Amino acid sequence: MLIRSNNPIRCLEHNCVVSVYCENDNKLLCSNCMLGKVEHKFHKMTPIDKCEPFLRERLPKMCQSVEKEAKAISDTSALILKNLIQEETEAHKILNSLT
Ligand SMILES: [Zn+2]
Ligand SMILES: [Zn+2]
Repeated sequence: MLIRSNNPIRCLEHNCVVSVYCENDNKLLCSNCMLGKVEHKFHKMTPIDKCEPFLRERLPKMCQSVEKEAKAISDTSALILKNLIQEETEAHKILNSLT
């Protein structure tokens, strides 16, 4: 998932195209994010298409760190799943030896 400057950037939480950047939270927000958090109303927001060049430069970095986090989470859940399957297999073995 590489972000190209002309591609719309999607909110990872709502899978909606982000429309503003909240400077207080240092986050890109879609309309669902704004509706979900009343505090944003009092925050400084910049429409994404009017973003300063510095923000455009920062965007790929921000998205990369989010992607990294998401990968770490999926790695962890894969590990948990693996452990669960192993435990279940062990439990079946014990059950089988009992019967
Ligand atoms: Zn959102
Ligand atoms: Zn905010």
